[in-house]
Amino acid sequence: MDLLESLKRYNPSSEQLEKINKLKPINQPDYALEELIVVPIAASNNLIHGSNGKWSLETLELITASYGQGGQDLLLDHTWGNSHNSMGMIFDAELWHYPTVDNAMMDYLLQKSNNEYDRKILMREGYYQVTLYAAVEDSHPIHSQLRYQRNSDVSIGGKANLDYYCPLCSTKTEMVKFRDERCPHYMPTQMFLAWYADDVPPEEKWRIAPYFIEHGWDSSVELSLVTAGDCKQARVINQQMVEVLC
Ligand SMILES: [Zn+2]
Repeated sequence: MDLLESLKRYNPSSEQLEKINKLKPINQPDYALEELIVVPIAASNNLIHGSNGKWSLETLELITASYGQGGQDLLLDHTWGNSHNSMGMIFDAELWHYPTVDNAMMDYLLQKSNNEYDRKILMREGYYQVTLYAAVEDSHPIHSQLRYQRNSDVSIGGKANLDYYCPLCSTKTEMVKFRDERCPHYMPTQMFLAWYADDVPPEEKWRIAPYFIEHGWDSSVELSLVTAGDCKQARVINQQMVEVLC
């Protein structure tokens, strides 16, 4: 089955069902195909987030591997303190890579980004996307929320001790932290841009890096449906997205 056909499936495939059944409590009856729907999700990618960071490629691999173990909650609004907000379960993960990005894909991905640096990243790295698969009960109210697009944006949730690297000083072979003495740049956090960037003299504006690279991931805990996620392109995969990606 090609990718597009597999994404258009409503119920799980037999391989997917086998995977899902391995994650259920041991003493419960197996799920039947008809009682579950599969929700394919573009969860994260290698572009610049709303917070000005972008994941390192190694971190995207770690995020994918961690979700790939399966069993994480499909949650609402990252409410880790409220397990009643769990709507389903992640059961599989894939890291999609498109080494070359054609014009249609470029236009689509940059719709939610006017950032010239996203374009440069896509030219240099191609496009990487963490694609997750969630299983949801057909009869659960969240099915209607998803079907009628009252919930479509998503955001990943996990545990990590992050390192922050400079995109201007790092090379293909060596990552350089902002705190490294060789790096003359400022890390452009939202806090820095709001409070300190105006005080940087005009002749030193070049020191403000355009974005930062986030590196590190311990475990994927949940994937949340949110109103607007930090990753601008992250969402439940729809027809518009598969037209440029498949
Ligand atoms: Zn630097």
